[in-house]
Formats: sequence, C-alpha cells, structure tokens
Amino acid sequence: MQPDDALVVYRRRRNFAKTSEPKGGASRGEVSRKPAFVVQIHDASTMHFDFRLEVEGVLKSWAVPKGPSDDPHDKRLAMPTEDHPLEYADFEGVIAEGEYGAGTVILWDEGTYRSTSEDRRGTEIPFAEALERGHAPFRLHGQKLHGGYALTRIRRGTGREAWLLVKKDDSRGARRGAPDPVRARSVRTRRTLRQVAAGEDPGQ
Ligand code: MN
Repeated sequence: MQPDDALVVYRRRRNFAKTSEPKGGASRGEVSRKPAFVVQIHDASTMHFDFRLEVEGVLKSWAVPKGPSDDPHDKRLAMPTEDHPLEYADFEGVIAEGEYGAGTVILWDEGTYRSTSEDRRGTEIPFAEALERGHAPFRLHGQKLHGGYALTRIRRGTGREAWLLVKKDDSRGARRGAPDPVRARSVRTRRTLRQVAAGEDPGQ
C-alpha cells in the first residue's frame, strides 16, 4: 500500500485546523536509513502507550494499555490502531479537547529497529509480510528499550484484532518492567506528561 492510501483513516479522524498533529506526506529522509520506532505515552480518555514501527512508509501502530515491558514474562496486550504518518514520530504535545485522541502525548522512547523474522530455512522475511502472517520478531535499538521483542496476533476481526507484545529473553541485568506513565519523562525534552500539558518549556 502507498503511504497516502494507508493514511486515509488517520486523516479522516482528525481536523488539522484544530489539532497540532502532523497531516503526513513529508519525507523523513532517505530510505536507506534503518526503520524507526517510537513509543509515545498518551494521556487520553484512558492512559496508554502507543507503540509504532516504521513499515513501508508509515508508522504501524498499536495501543499498549500497560506499556512495553522488558520482562519476558509480561505479555502486553497491544491493540492495533490506524497507520500514522512518519512525522508522527516527532509529535509531542497536547491534542485539543473535543478532537480525536484528545489529551497529552510525550515521546517516551525512540530509535531504530531491525526485523529478525526468518522462515524455517533461515531466509529473512520482509517485516510487512511477517506482520501479515501474525508473528513479527524484531530488535529494538532505542534510548530506553533494547533487544529482542515480538508482536504476535492472538485475535482476528475488524475492531477485535488483538496482539501481544513480548520481550525476548535475551537481556542481562535488572528488569524494570514498564514505566509509570505519570512519572515517565520525554526522551527528547525530559518533560513529564504534566509538564507538557502545562505548556512548560523544555529545560524548566
Ligand atoms: Mn494513542
């Protein structure tokens, strides 16, 4: 799918005269760079984490109510949401009251990822195809999240589809579980949700 076609639902849900979220369509640089991932914390009607992976020109997106955990025993429910434009990986701010997803967003983590999907003969499977098949392992290289994770579809159906986001058992050292969204700080500006909501400048 072309990115512009993939963003139809995203654009239909938003009034860009009223929200400061990006409309999409701009390029984020050359295609040869590694694909991006971002985790945002979104203090909407219910607090959740938005987990996004760059796939074929858009950000494939899942809402993860409890947030990604670095403990392999934690199976985090991840509900797919509409594809977002690549520029959304730079979005931090307040979505106006009355608009879709109204509430505060901070960029909690960002970085790149690499698909580790292989078929039984060890041949690499394109990440989009792995997602299509319902099991997509990958390695994250973020500021906070590192190492192997996998997204696995556990339920199908429009509006019902559900996935699990699980850490691969490959990390050394202490496991911290998922962050407390109220205390968590932006990876870019070090601000908390409360500080972003109050419009405080970075560095205050
Ligand atoms: Mn969200």
